[in-house]
Amino acid sequence: MQPWYGLINQYRDFLPVSGETPVITLNEGNTPLIRASRLNEVLDEEINLYFKYEGSNPSGSFKDRGMTLAISKAVEDGSRAVICASTGNTSASASAYSAKAGIGAIVLIPEGKIALGKLAQALIHGAMVLQVEGNFDDALRIVKELVERHPFALVNSLNPFRIEGQKTAAFEICDQLGAAPDYHVLPVGNAGNITAYWKGYREYRDAGRINSLPKMLGFQAAGAAPIVTGRPVERPETVATAIRIGNPASWKGALAARDESGGLIESVTDEEIINAYKLIASREGIFCEPASAATLAGVIKLSKRKFFSKGDTVVCTLTGNGLKDSDSALQLSGPPVKVRAEITAVEELLKGCCL
Ligand SMILES: *Cc1c(COP(=O)(O)O)cnc(C)c1O
Repeated sequence: MQPWYGLINQYRDFLPVSGETPVITLNEGNTPLIRASRLNEVLDEEINLYFKYEGSNPSGSFKDRGMTLAISKAVEDGSRAVICASTGNTSASASAYSAKAGIGAIVLIPEGKIALGKLAQALIHGAMVLQVEGNFDDALRIVKELVERHPFALVNSLNPFRIEGQKTAAFEICDQLGAAPDYHVLPVGNAGNITAYWKGYREYRDAGRINSLPKMLGFQAAGAAPIVTGRPVERPETVATAIRIGNPASWKGALAARDESGGLIESVTDEEIINAYKLIASREGIFCEPASAATLAGVIKLSKRKFFSKGDTVVCTLTGNGLKDSDSALQLSGPPVKVRAEITAVEELLKGCCL
């Protein structure tokens, strides 16, 4: 087995780095591609379904892919601090990589609805965390204005290095499968990731590493679906906080990925997202974030209308680790059953389940 030193080292030839670039890495990437095995009953078609589990990145989300590059380039350019607006995972990742680099991190988060684990990450890594009395779009607007006045490096996905780093997930999937999948499914929030994957697949094709391209399937939450409805959403609402975005920064990139690949971008309801979130955990043993589950929710929805063909290879990116948002899991599961500290009492309860 080859040792893994992070994705800049692995995919250097495809990335805008030189011998001079200081590589700030937490050995991100090389995440598992897991074959789904117990979801056949909920799907109306026989497909080869895989999950690319990005929750196993060092800070627990795919944001680390873009961040290793964005922070490395910021350090190369002499930045002393980075700044971002975030629904949570960008701030967690920026804080971790800034700590590793020894530079400052400033994060602006929206009011309310931040998963607690993500907030804890930013704080413990030593970032300056400011909670703006507004939504994500307000926070991003302020950040954009700040970088025009001060020498901070912006590490939101408007930063082109973020997209460059994130595209490596597409390379890994092709390397893991030995080919491109037929369909690639992503949750869509700010739309940086769908833009990045599409770029990655195209570059791998152009380099002769794969012969075909997947169709890109994006899913937004019904309460935050600007790309589906065609206009910004003033007050986005969804349980999937990581995709609670009303005016995506990479809107055009998402449309290009959809149209050039012959794919689609649709919405799924919170109910469908929660159902899929529970299925992924209870049937596949993978604990992902609610936003990540929008992918399976979308696949279930499409398979109901016989969208796929038998034997199609479909890869869903599970964007983040469920532990970040354990509140959601606890709320949806209910509390554990209490029992007296006696074996007979325990056995009595087990009768209803495993005995
Ligand atoms: C950032 C994020 C998304 C949304 O990705 P975009 O690139 O903004 O579309 C989805 N899920 C999780 C867990 C995220 O952190």
